[in-house]
Amino acid sequence: MNADPLKQFLQAEGATLVGVGDVTKALSREIIHLGRGVAIAVNRSLTRDTVDLLVRLQALTEGWLKAKGYRSLSIPPDSDRKMGKMISKLYKLFCHKTAATCAGLGWIGKNGLIINERYGSKMTWATVLTDAPLATDRPYVSSQCGDCDLCVRHCPSGAVQGHLWSLGNPMREIVSYDKCRSLKSGRTSLKEKPNCGFCVTVCPYSRNGKKNSN
Ligand code: SF4
Ligand code: SF4
Repeated sequence: MNADPLKQFLQAEGATLVGVGDVTKALSREIIHLGRGVAIAVNRSLTRDTVDLLVRLQALTEGWLKAKGYRSLSIPPDSDRKMGKMISKLYKLFCHKTAATCAGLGWIGKNGLIINERYGSKMTWATVLTDAPLATDRPYVSSQCGDCDLCVRHCPSGAVQGHLWSLGNPMREIVSYDKCRSLKSGRTSLKEKPNCGFCVTVCPYSRNGKKNSN
């Protein structure tokens, strides 16, 4: 099933990137029938407006699929995680990073974030799982960071371990989130921020992404 009409529709509605991946291997038993992941990204920082846009794009995706007789399940954008809603329980079911890598939209960098070749890691992600047999994109199965170690050298907490990601490599071997969190909790200047963010700002792909911003 051609996925281009869906991609073009979502891009016309504000999505920066849309890809489709075969995510079957990452699904739990309850949702194993939803083997395609539609990864949607916007090249915007994580604000309420960004989340609202992604939620709207997910609803449009679900409507598009439903009109063709297929089922779907939206995994909400990251920031809704804090809201304590029933829907936040869905996070345990699936990870946006899996959809993005399976859909060929990026690899997991040494900084533990999705790196898109054009936009870097300053993107916000959402996923729609579906049983529609959409044609899949070519997945990333390994890191493209190469010898670069800028995020390793600039991380003030030593959280970035310097390991190259490949499919099946557990995230904890790439970034120590305990170290990252403890740096944030010890600095009042970071109170209103999710983290210090140096591992994003030093990344050459993210710097390019700024130039490619709309
Ligand atoms: S947010 Fe800061 S402390 Fe956390 S991993 Fe990135 S550079 Fe290190
Ligand atoms: S700074 Fe370099 S090593 Fe770190 S994520 Fe970006 S490209 Fe990869």
